Amino acid sequence: MNALTKPENLSTREIQDLDSAHFLHPFTDYKDLATRGARVITKADGIYVWDSEGSKMLDAMSGLWCVNVGYGRKELADAAYQQMMTLPFYNSFFQTTNVPAVKLAARLSALAPKVGDRSFDHVFYSSSGSESNDSNVRMVRRYWDLLGQPQRKVIISRQNAYHGSTMAGASLGGMSGMHAQGDLPIPNITHIEQPYFFENGLPGETSDEFGIRAARWLEEKILAVGPDKVAAFIAEPIQGAGGVIIPPATYWPEIQRIVDKYGILLISDEVICAFGRLGHWFAYEKFGYKPDLVTFAKAVTSGYIPLGGVMVGNRVAQVLIDKGGEFNHGYTYSGHPVACAVALANIDIMEQELLLDKVRGEVGAYFAKRYAELNEHPLVGLAETSGLVAGMVLVKNKATKERFSSEDAVGMLCRAHCFNNGLIMRAVGDRMIIAPPLTMTLSDIDELMRLIRQALDFTLRDLK
Ligand code: PLP
Repeated sequence: MNALTKPENLSTREIQDLDSAHFLHPFTDYKDLATRGARVITKADGIYVWDSEGSKMLDAMSGLWCVNVGYGRKELADAAYQQMMTLPFYNSFFQTTNVPAVKLAARLSALAPKVGDRSFDHVFYSSSGSESNDSNVRMVRRYWDLLGQPQRKVIISRQNAYHGSTMAGASLGGMSGMHAQGDLPIPNITHIEQPYFFENGLPGETSDEFGIRAARWLEEKILAVGPDKVAAFIAEPIQGAGGVIIPPATYWPEIQRIVDKYGILLISDEVICAFGRLGHWFAYEKFGYKPDLVTFAKAVTSGYIPLGGVMVGNRVAQVLIDKGGEFNHGYTYSGHPVACAVALANIDIMEQELLLDKVRGEVGAYFAKRYAELNEHPLVGLAETSGLVAGMVLVKNKATKERFSSEDAVGMLCRAHCFNNGLIMRAVGDRMIIAPPLTMTLSDIDELMRLIRQALDFTLRDLK
């Protein structure tokens, strides 16, 4: 009898063997995984997940920046069940629609605040952040074509940005490891440096001064490419997968000045930052800039079912509607009724439990205060938060800000201590990052900080 037909539960080893025999995981070294065996996550509740060996871990990454309302939400399972029994699927091609997709589009439009002359009355649906960014490229190009400026093709992005893993998503992203595989980026996508003050601030320069200087890299790039060739600038409000890089306060206003000056479209990739992560439905509100397109995914359903999309601002939507004729782009699952029903129930939970108010209020303030205390730790170069997302850089020498070399693998060492002691925290090089569920209570935050401090202490001990 093989493991698949065994009547009783599979052992961890059996699952791991089947896993490495058949499952090619995303972003994984397959040989390495086959040797180690994957950690098998079997269940979750609230802010905790359990593995097949019974270890309980506080999931400070909300799955993968998704599970904003926490695990075990019966309301979301009920919404999916009800919708599956009523209408599990129908496409939205060929002039058909479905009720949850319509209701969600209207609801998202109402939640997306109007800024200046930008309002967001339309949604284009996909099933992921990557697909949504592909849709952005299609829409941006179509927009400029329709306006008689087909030469505007170039989209400017940033080094170390993450915009997904499809050809366009990975090209828009600025991850060198991804570009090294598969001849990326595709043509007409170019990158500027990220606004990482800790790394790139000059001696004596304030963070505000750096923010302006970093934003002006965009202007330099526009001038180098030729202003009449630039279609759009895309950026995450806070870079997430790149290591939670929080821009200086001066950065976004200066970016806005520059995109306005050259008339280029602004795409805000809010796959991580929307749906309460920063205390707002959409993060552009927090930073006060005026995007034309806003990418979302992940926490729109708290990750319970795949859904993504683009909030299409009136500047672009009106051109597509008035001049565009048929838009030859879309996905089978654009406006999937079950995913949209779950998203509606997820938004209900966030509203009923005042989760955004809590992130902007008591919970966010307590999280910021407790996390800032980690700056006292000898390993921590800088620990910063925004809403309920946080990042810290681990350093060899606090006074000189000397960094560890990549061979030290300090992040991976710290991450192992987290895992072994009941905490899921992510390592990005020498940066440790978290984005816990928005349902965290003050005592959950105390427990989280205790676990982080313990992992830092163990890491420091090992490095000595
Ligand atoms: N954009 C950003 C900012 C992201 O963080 C991610 C994923 O982490 C994506 C796009 C890609 O989303 P997906 O993995 O759903 O395709």
